[in-house]
Amino acid sequence: MANALNAVLTDKTVLVKADSMAEEYRTIECRLFRVVGGFGAQPFTSSRTVFGAFVFDGSEDRLDGYDVEAIVEPHEDGVHPGEPDEQCPACALARLTSTPEASS
Ligand SMILES: [Zn+2]
Repeated sequence: MANALNAVLTDKTVLVKADSMAEEYRTIECRLFRVVGGFGAQPFTSSRTVFGAFVFDGSEDRLDGYDVEAIVEPHEDGVHPGEPDEQCPACALARLTSTPEASS
């Protein structure tokens, strides 16, 4: 498997494992990564490199496919079900992509 999920990651937003991040970048926002491609974004390849960019600052980077913890899917209708959760990846993604000042 080229990534930990054995899934197609291209054009998905993924959550990077906290252990794979520098200590100061372990917040839920900093762990969101937009995948654009790479062999690691495909199952059943031997390379594990995943290309993309961190959502919070737009910096291009590469990951090891085994640094990926989960695919982040937006909530249906953009609404978090149940109690508010500061650590919810889908809500963190919504916060980052809906506030214009977050990217400047
Ligand atoms: Zn949520």
